[in-house]
Amino acid sequence: MPELPEVETLKNALLPLIKDQILEEMIFHRADLRFPIPIGLLKQEMSGHRVTNVVRKGKYLLWEVSQGAMVLHLGMSGRVVQRPSRNPEEKHCHAIFQFSSNLFLHFIDPRRFGCIVWAPRESGHPLLNHLGPDPLTPDASPQRMKQSALNRKISIKAFLMDARRLAGVGNIYACEALFRTGIHPLRQAGRLSLKRWENLLAELKTVLLESIKVGGSTLRDFYGADGTPGYYSTRFTVYGRENQPCLNCKEPISRIVQTGRSTFYCKHCQK
Ligand SMILES: [Zn+2]
Repeated sequence: MPELPEVETLKNALLPLIKDQILEEMIFHRADLRFPIPIGLLKQEMSGHRVTNVVRKGKYLLWEVSQGAMVLHLGMSGRVVQRPSRNPEEKHCHAIFQFSSNLFLHFIDPRRFGCIVWAPRESGHPLLNHLGPDPLTPDASPQRMKQSALNRKISIKAFLMDARRLAGVGNIYACEALFRTGIHPLRQAGRLSLKRWENLLAELKTVLLESIKVGGSTLRDFYGADGTPGYYSTRFTVYGRENQPCLNCKEPISRIVQTGRSTFYCKHCQK
């Protein structure tokens, strides 16, 4: 599943390809993904317009034009690939974007949990308007997070994964950052000291940046030889390691389920 680092890598790969290029034509092969695709509106606002920037917010990718942005989310299985023509090559190719530079980008999403929507510059889009700060920006400061968690009874793990509090932190990265800072995943978010918030956000940033570095910066880096996306699974210290020895204390790693997702942690090292 594409996580924040994969979306950041995709953004970095797309920037030199489509920034300042004119999006000449958009072809849609279906009218909905997770949400309906506002095809008429997108064509009206995007076709023939210059893409002024490509921006990532959490796990959303924004192709900005002067009046707003087309917002893409990769969902569980989405990807954007470069192809030589506007002819779909994959079964689940739902949208094709043709640029003035004769570049063709295909949006493919077998499970269709992704989305393509329009966000006007003035009003934005509900999907983006409720997003918390991005963990890679200074907006996600320890002070702000501590304030945001104040009096909240949810666990720190659930807090980290709540996009309204912090945008785009997936399960893997929440587990890793908590393990690396010795914070128990069930600890109440509202009771974390400022010092622990500082450590946690710094470590979260480090683990995300490590994955982005592994990912590289071209579309080709993003996929294996078979064309499937590479997920950056190198150097996970706790995620997916149930019953294997903790890298600090050698005791077995535990697994619990929180808000429907597996949390991996060390009972001895995380307090
Ligand atoms: Zn341990």
